[in-house]
Amino acid sequence: MGEQSASQPTKAAKRPPRESVTSGGPAKASKGSAKKAGASAKKSGAAVRPGKPGKPESHLAMVRRARRINRELAEVYPYAHPELDFRNPFELLVATVLSAQTTDLRVNQTTPALFAAYPTPEDMAAAVPEELEEVIRPTGFFRAKARSLIGLSAALRDNFGGEVPGRLADLVTLPGVGRKTANVVLGNAFGVPGITVDTHFGRLVRRWKWTEQEDPEKVEAEIAAIFPKSEWTMLSHRVVFHGRRICHARRPACGACPIAPLCPSYGEGETDPEKARKLLKYEMGGQPGQRLSPPPDYPGKPAPALGAG
Ligand code: SF4
Repeated sequence: MGEQSASQPTKAAKRPPRESVTSGGPAKASKGSAKKAGASAKKSGAAVRPGKPGKPESHLAMVRRARRINRELAEVYPYAHPELDFRNPFELLVATVLSAQTTDLRVNQTTPALFAAYPTPEDMAAAVPEELEEVIRPTGFFRAKARSLIGLSAALRDNFGGEVPGRLADLVTLPGVGRKTANVVLGNAFGVPGITVDTHFGRLVRRWKWTEQEDPEKVEAEIAAIFPKSEWTMLSHRVVFHGRRICHARRPACGACPIAPLCPSYGEGETDPEKARKLLKYEMGGQPGQRLSPPPDYPGKPAPALGAG
């Protein structure tokens, strides 16, 4: 893992009062640093690096900054969780396969009817393909996904006694199940620590200069070296939460971001606090979340059922 070009972080922001974040306000303690950073970003046109300009950040300093970001995110999103609705490992496996190329919301709106019709691997393995396709049609790519679901259900029935296995090596033998899906299932249904590198995770860790890798497996390996195993699953949820709510792909809401003083890419998005607040999504923007059945500590509203909004 090479050293990154970011320099040492400035005095990091203290966590802002939770309400200032959830109501869309910029981080209190980070406001000054964020403004300063924004001003110099405007002047130079470049992303602001935390710390002394021009001084490369050592690997150790990057690791400390990364862990600090993780701690800050833990305070911003104490309720971070997988955003797929599931009641058992089989449902999580199926929902994760369906989530390819669509939103978790659309999957959550589709799975209640799916699991009512096919509650077990045995039921799903015996499905009439055209009937299964109709049920999962709202998630897109429904023919390929139906093939995967029937195939993986048959493999569970025939090779694993109708149970989802709790080992990565077994999970990736199932049709349509790659390392990312396997890590989601292991981390959230079996309590096995795992880093899930999806599009949000990859984008954010590169913006934070934790890695320069593009390949998800290499990203996973480099991030795994920065954090203790016990943090891997929750770190994944926090980073994805931040990517979906604040640090968007096209227009990150830098002016409302509580970790702005720790971010070398501050200024890549909207720095005006008022405008940035309007970009916040889900509970941060006062909107419903993605889960129809969110965990009890989720501060936002549940998502609507399919066709209800
Ligand atoms: S929104 Fe993203 S790019 Fe902007 S300061 Fe926050 S983490 Fe950095």
